[in-house]
Amino acid sequence: MSPAPIHVIGGGLAGSEAAWQIAGTGVPVILHEMRPVRGTDAHHTDGLAELVCSNSFRADDWTSNAVGLLHAEMRALDSLIMACGDAHQVPAGGALAVDRDGFSAAVTHRLSTHPLVRIERSEVAGLPPEDWDSVIIATGPLTSPALAQAIQGLTGEDELSFFDAIAPIV
Ligand SMILES: Cc1cc2nc3c(=O)[nH]c(=O)nc-3n(C[C@H](O)[C@H](O)[C@H](O)COP(=O)(O)OP(=O)(O)OC[C@H]3O[C@@H](n4cnc5c(N)ncnc54)[C@H](O)[C@@H]3O)c2cc1C
Repeated sequence: MSPAPIHVIGGGLAGSEAAWQIAGTGVPVILHEMRPVRGTDAHHTDGLAELVCSNSFRADDWTSNAVGLLHAEMRALDSLIMACGDAHQVPAGGALAVDRDGFSAAVTHRLSTHPLVRIERSEVAGLPPEDWDSVIIATGPLTSPALAQAIQGLTGEDELSFFDAIAPIV
């Protein structure tokens, strides 16, 4: 018997990495990304892992910098984001900066050609259906209003917060 798929909502940096890591364990994934059917205020393309602002992944020195150490740990774990970032690096001193278009195209290609990953281009406009056994919500700071309102209703929170300094977050 093959395992039930894990649903990942949001094909940004976090959702793309999550889908890749799950598929790497032999479990099928359905990745739900609403672009281009529905856009956000910051994204301009339909590519997965689109960088909406800076193209820098910051310092890449694992010996003296916590961000660089995180890079090294992600590389050791076969990170899709790091592999595509390394392949599309542009000069930026000691930082890892990437060609945003090449980077996003590479992530999109790797996931769309993975035999265990299916990409659904539609908005999840509310709480996930009951029959989705396992779900990761990785919709980032620009979560569509319908899903954000559903999460607010479920949690009873008045507002949802996004902590930019520790983004991206699964
Ligand atoms: C204007 C702006 C500028 C930023 N600048 C920086 C910066 O310079 N440096 C930095 O580190 N961070 C920056 N950030 C934060 C940045 O968004 C995160 O670092 C990073 O993109 C977070 O990754 P993520 O995967 O969590 O979210 P995202 O990359 O935003 O991915 C979320 C995905 O979910 C999709 N989605 C949303 N709702 C739904 C739904 N209901 N159904 C299906 N799909 C959905 C979206 O289309 C998107 O593709 C910025 C954010 C904004 C809004």
